[in-house]
Amino acid sequence: MPRFVFITGGVVSSLGKGLASAALGALLQARGYKVRLRKLDPYLNVDPGTMSPTQHGEVFVTDDGAETDLDLGHYERFTGVNAKQSDNVTTGRIYSDVLARERRGDYLGATIQVIPHVTDAIKTFVTSNLDDEDFVLVEIGGTVGDIESLPFLEAIRQLGYELEQHKTCFLHVTLLPYINVAGELKTKPTQHSVKELQSVGIQPDILLCRSSEYIPSDLKRKISRFCNVREEAVISALDASSIYDVPLVYHREGLDMEICRHFDLPLNEPNLLVWQDIVQRMSHPEGEVNIAVVGKYTSLIDSYKSLAEALVHGGLDNNVKVRLNWVDSESFEGDTPNMSELKQADGILVPGGFGQRGSEGKIRAIQFARENDLPFFGICFGMQMAVIEAARNLAGESEASSSEFGQIDNPVVGLMTEWTSGNKQVTRDDKSDLGGTMRLGAYDCVLGEGSRVLDLYGEKNISERHRHRYEVNIAWREMLEAKGLIFSGLSPDGQLPEIVERTDHPFFIGVQFHPELKSRPFEPHPLFSGFIKAARDRSRLV
Ligand code: GLN
Repeated sequence: MPRFVFITGGVVSSLGKGLASAALGALLQARGYKVRLRKLDPYLNVDPGTMSPTQHGEVFVTDDGAETDLDLGHYERFTGVNAKQSDNVTTGRIYSDVLARERRGDYLGATIQVIPHVTDAIKTFVTSNLDDEDFVLVEIGGTVGDIESLPFLEAIRQLGYELEQHKTCFLHVTLLPYINVAGELKTKPTQHSVKELQSVGIQPDILLCRSSEYIPSDLKRKISRFCNVREEAVISALDASSIYDVPLVYHREGLDMEICRHFDLPLNEPNLLVWQDIVQRMSHPEGEVNIAVVGKYTSLIDSYKSLAEALVHGGLDNNVKVRLNWVDSESFEGDTPNMSELKQADGILVPGGFGQRGSEGKIRAIQFARENDLPFFGICFGMQMAVIEAARNLAGESEASSSEFGQIDNPVVGLMTEWTSGNKQVTRDDKSDLGGTMRLGAYDCVLGEGSRVLDLYGEKNISERHRHRYEVNIAWREMLEAKGLIFSGLSPDGQLPEIVERTDHPFFIGVQFHPELKSRPFEPHPLFSGFIKAARDRSRLV
């Protein structure tokens, strides 16, 4: 039976609970333990797949095709443990499962209630589908006091006494605001939030207090007394200079030590060399590259969380700092587009996206990169737009477009109606539900001999994660290859174009999948490393 650490948040949202959970996972791994991280999301959507990225941030896709919360991206980047569908659940999914069972008659005439039926379903979710993990870290989304989180808090409260003794720990992340005029950190919001937690029967074991200033010991003592938590278990979580510094910062404050003490585990020093090396390299870059990210949701950077991190990882691999310039693609539309943002860039990245708005600007940006030998990396929608760009501007098919933008006769990018998943045939049409019906998760791809991508990956058969509904039409292959756009990665049956590249360009690669989802600071993704290397070479040239 693994040990469970339940992580709740108090006072305000956006406290970095996901990062704290991920960092704790990394620290426990550094002590030799096997970990799994899970997230319980209180909202009513069945999954975040249909939510606007500007509201909810990026949708993180797992190998097994689940559309999950972006915190699972942090978990993977910090621990390298691939998340699964069974690591993220929402109130919506719990209720839809409970209701489906009610309709089937599984409850044998019982009145279905939040307690015990919904809470039982949550407990089953938390404790099922585990291997031989030493620790399961379970983050509860939202803030204590939210109406929606109550069933989750009730479920973890029950687990607190149902699981074997010494198998659970409640970690509460709070905020100590700094009041400028008083020149002090304030503990009252933390006291209130712990009271709120106690009112639903949960006594936190450890408090992780986010603050901009160091917490003096008299303040820790005060928090300890008011919140009924041992003084050493009141841990100060200072803002870190980079997210990859967080494991080291929390270790210095004793977080992993306190967890070990709580579970009566040895208190030896963890091996943090990997993190020390990352932080060391991050703080001593040899240069800088400017990457223009040309997209639509650039107002909320969280919509491209994994992408931004994968670019940082590419920078780490090349000892350069990567400066990101988020550019709204619509600024390149119209008769006299101002391309100055692109002229200053060492590389252009067009990320994933949905819908027609802004697509013409993306196509313009891609044309600019192609014509000016500027490193270009297109991801998913970005790849599709690169193919349309070539069809229009090189193959002379001025009407070339995607059926995502409306019905057309011979789409370069068309709605995918069937594909194989494992040994299953999947079929869809344009009337299918929008939720959970894309080509999702890990699919194999075979790389072409002599291609740049083969060089970068160093192996012919790769597997990458997907999330798309439309697909480049293989029928255009010959015409586009004749114009230098090589289809250098295909699905194993040769039917679905996965990668296009130009060989007459310093770096011009478009991929149908999302490589950013698999990049880790300690294992940068080869495509991001290659892209940043090309940008670095370019920045030295100009
Ligand atoms: N909108 C495109 C599609 O559905 C691209 C999706 C994406 O970029 N994730 O195929």
